[in-house]
Amino acid sequence: MKASAFDYARATSVAHALELLTAHGERAKVLAGGQSLLPAMNLRLMAPEFIVDIGELAELRGVTVKGDVLTIGALTRHADLLKSPEIAAHAPLLRDAVAHVAHPAIRNRGTIGGSLAQADPASELPACMLALDATIIARGPRGERRIAADEFFAGIYETALAPQELLIAVELPVQPKDSTHYFHEFARRHGDYAIVGLAAQALVRDGRFADLRLGFFAVGDRPLLARSAGELIDVAVTPAVLAEASSALDEELSPLEDQQATPAMRRHLAKVLLMRCVSSLLSRPDLCTG
Ligand code: FAD
Repeated sequence: MKASAFDYARATSVAHALELLTAHGERAKVLAGGQSLLPAMNLRLMAPEFIVDIGELAELRGVTVKGDVLTIGALTRHADLLKSPEIAAHAPLLRDAVAHVAHPAIRNRGTIGGSLAQADPASELPACMLALDATIIARGPRGERRIAADEFFAGIYETALAPQELLIAVELPVQPKDSTHYFHEFARRHGDYAIVGLAAQALVRDGRFADLRLGFFAVGDRPLLARSAGELIDVAVTPAVLAEASSALDEELSPLEDQQATPAMRRHLAKVLLMRCVSSLLSRPDLCTG
């Protein structure tokens, strides 16, 4: 199928893109790498009347580190994240996760901003933003605002972005040298959207979690920062403690049914991931029975 007719403009600066978005209101859609928007248009799931192409805005591309903040421009492509020494050094969780996003051809075009603005609940990068305690920078006609990742994802394909706002960048705290991470997803084939996945960032000191952030995906209508992780912080983790955290997690999940899995299967898989993650981060094979 082909997309319905639309008008098109290539933005020459962020200010120009914002002008176009303001002028065309809800009729307009931003085009970044096009790896989600164009298939949706070709399938006629979406029919924007005006496309604002931001793909040439070099100012929105790249990874920088200043002090203890890692900034990733919205147009940084998945393939760039995979190759970035800054990401490998300061947010290796993100590098591990990006390797699971689609396939090389899609990663060569798709951008981090597009992935976050798309807000697919089965997507890897939104959950990483929760685990890494990211701040999303948005710019609109009234200026810039900073949105905590935990407040950014609002539902299936829904975010806190207003129609006339652009996602400009993502800021991540540089992870301490002794921090550790875990990433795993269950998917039918490598590169498919996950059935259930977990992106976790942790600090382990003297065999206990000093910090633990668990970002689950494909367990509801948006990524989930599991509050039940709190039960595992600063305590000696025993099988009983882990079982309690697992029950608490169960209450937090609201998995959806689709052709890939039932809600019950997703709950089961999320709990398996929790157990494997904790066992791996604490290097305690005795905690893993699944
Ligand atoms: P676009 O398609 O250009 O835009 C996506 C949406 O975000 C649009 O609504 C657009 O208006 C909006 N948008 C983009 N940039 C901005 C911005 N800066 N500010 C405001 N709004 C913006 N994704 C996964 O996460 N995991 C997968 O496993 C996966 N597998 C895929 C497999 C296939 C076969 C395909 C075709 C896609 C797959 N995707 C997957 C989706 C895709 O990889 C990502 O969603 C994509 O990278 C989004 O980035 P983009 O730059 O291409 O966004």
